[in-house]
Amino acid sequence: MSDTPILPDSEGLTVEQREDAMIEQEFQALLNEYLHSNHRKKVEIIERAFRFAKEAHHGIRRRSGEPYIMHPIAVARIVCEEMGLGSTSICSALLHDVVEDTEYTVEDIENLFGKKIAMIVSGLTKISGGIFGDQASAQAENFRKLLLTMSEDIRVILVKMADRLHNMRTLGSMLPSKQYKIAGETLYIYAPLAHRLGLFAIKTELEDLSFKYEHPEAYAEIQHNIASSEEMRQKVFQDFAAPITAKLHEMGVQFEMKTRVKSAYSIWNKMQTKNIPFDEVYDLYAVRIIFDPQHEENEKTECFNIYSVITDIYRPHPERTRDWVSHPKANGYRALHVTVMGPDGNWTEVQIRSRKMDEIAERGFAAHWKYKVGGVDEGSELDIWLRTIKEILENPEPNALDFLDTIKLNLFASEIFVFTPKGELKTLPKDATALDFAFFLHSDLGYHCIAAKVNHRLAPLSQKLQSGDQVEILTSKSQTPKPEWENFVTTAKAKTQLQAALKKERRGVAAQGEEIYNKFIAENQLITNDLSVLDKILNFFDIDKKEELFYQLGKNEIVLDDNVKKLFKGKSHNVFMRYLLNPFGGSKSGNKSSDENNSKNKKSDKKKLVSPKKIDKKATYLLQSTETERNYIIATCCNPIPGDDVLGYVNEKEEVIVHKQSCPIAMKLKSSFGSRLISVEWDKHLHESFPVEIEIDGIDGAGVLNRITHIISDNMAMNIRSLTITANKGLFHGELGVMVHDARDIEQLCTQLKKLDEVKSAARKN
Ligand code: MN
Repeated sequence: MSDTPILPDSEGLTVEQREDAMIEQEFQALLNEYLHSNHRKKVEIIERAFRFAKEAHHGIRRRSGEPYIMHPIAVARIVCEEMGLGSTSICSALLHDVVEDTEYTVEDIENLFGKKIAMIVSGLTKISGGIFGDQASAQAENFRKLLLTMSEDIRVILVKMADRLHNMRTLGSMLPSKQYKIAGETLYIYAPLAHRLGLFAIKTELEDLSFKYEHPEAYAEIQHNIASSEEMRQKVFQDFAAPITAKLHEMGVQFEMKTRVKSAYSIWNKMQTKNIPFDEVYDLYAVRIIFDPQHEENEKTECFNIYSVITDIYRPHPERTRDWVSHPKANGYRALHVTVMGPDGNWTEVQIRSRKMDEIAERGFAAHWKYKVGGVDEGSELDIWLRTIKEILENPEPNALDFLDTIKLNLFASEIFVFTPKGELKTLPKDATALDFAFFLHSDLGYHCIAAKVNHRLAPLSQKLQSGDQVEILTSKSQTPKPEWENFVTTAKAKTQLQAALKKERRGVAAQGEEIYNKFIAENQLITNDLSVLDKILNFFDIDKKEELFYQLGKNEIVLDDNVKKLFKGKSHNVFMRYLLNPFGGSKSGNKSSDENNSKNKKSDKKKLVSPKKIDKKATYLLQSTETERNYIIATCCNPIPGDDVLGYVNEKEEVIVHKQSCPIAMKLKSSFGSRLISVEWDKHLHESFPVEIEIDGIDGAGVLNRITHIISDNMAMNIRSLTITANKGLFHGELGVMVHDARDIEQLCTQLKKLDEVKSAARKN
């Protein structure tokens, strides 16, 4: 440690000599502070960095007129004293403007001070470019670079923060136009970042300084109000504190109790958001009790002992106790907060902290070093912190990161950042899809998702997400995981959850299939345990395992139809069987009614058409169906459903085709084939769902689709077959295919849909 040069106040010194003495004195102050810290004493490299920077900036002055080197020294002092960082950061701070403002390069720094310091200085040089520039997107761009460099070394951010703090403290000597810009940038980018890093004292100072330059009158007025109410406040505080102090002394607690007035900026913020005058800011100040724990490991218990002393004296607000001792905030904050009714009848917040908690609250991680024993290695400590901070950035609180909304992030090649509708930022691996995101948020969202809205536009679940996308997952309770989803989930978490769900789903379907199988066995009077029966069926479908057979049966991928029954012909004496096998029931009758073009409808229809041999055209024909068969065909021209006014047309094959009375084709049939028309009636117990199309029109808005699908699937428990929604100039038009039982279903559905504010009309198509 070199001697502090004495600054003689004699007349014999030149301006330069006097300035030099001032510079040396300031540097000594830095060294003294460093030597008092808990870091390893690497004075030599700090001294060299100082000499080098001093020489490099020689002859240059700041706007204020003082030698330039005073700025790097001041930044280094902030880094050391206020952040508690070590020699690497101190050197980087001393050298932070060398590459940018002088002839020296990053290589020079590396040769003289090594890779690490050169890398940090280089990072600092990178972010400084454009900060004072005039590019429109400078803020977003800078912030992005800031975070980018952060992934290399957190010290880049910390030194930058110190640089910014010193620039803010000396902002008065800048041109007013620059003052405004720098203040805005500080409030927008640096203060929130300081908050996230747990640098509370620095965050508050940055906010207050920005506020002072952005709104000088408001700032002055609040400062004046704080000052003039101080005496009154102290009086109230004395009354409040007296009984607590007495009791704590009695218990032998070592403590300090003080009031802490909110920062000017947060008072102003409260006045703005609540629209209230200064006098009505009720939580203008908080009372802080900082105690020295008798035993380090008991500090939590001691917090609660003090808590109960306070709440024995004053009534606590039931909803305003915050225990950040048991559950520290993400940025490391720990304290026990309680709000009590003071003797003056006002709610007063009391913050209870141990000495250590208080230091962490004020100085962030700087305090962590203080409590380390022995020489601290800055590098490894910072690695731990870097990890912590990355975690914070990956799980941010929504409010703190609101300001990121306007920024499209593209930080790391392997990760993307995606926003929830509430503005929370989530980190996903690159190439993640909307479906991955659904599973990432919650497994239930994954199981039931039907589509996504990416940046408010409807997108398929397979859509690959981009950094900065805002993603909303649309769900339906009736949705189940689909095997094809395996093609577009990329994250391990989603894959595992999906596979587990599919397995479960598969077991459910197979159980249904087994039921179908058993029913078939029973109906055909086959022997349940006859393995040859099972083998025959397996062979018939070319399936290996019975589990697979049951699954496909449950899925309706295969049907135990006539062809299967034929396998067991002769074994059965069932009347029902013979009825099913009757000649006109044969194979696929009615499939090719040319004039009706029914083939499409029939193809997807697993039910078998059965008709009586001869239809009595004078009687009313009852339209019937069971789970496996029906005795009519639905005309595809008008798609009638139960509840509609219908008539029957008997074709050459003696099959009954059902039309709506109002159907134009039915009208034509009436005129040409009057003798083939019969009156028909719907059976009251139809085991049947019918596809219908519903048209919806309304006003587009966030979540409309979600609400529509909610009504259909959840309220009405209907299956959605298709849904297309097109939005144009704030309006939307939707076409919806659903399965219904009868016309009443449609009526109810439309009534429900029209209850939504956005929906202006909903009706059956045709
Ligand atoms: Mn600087």
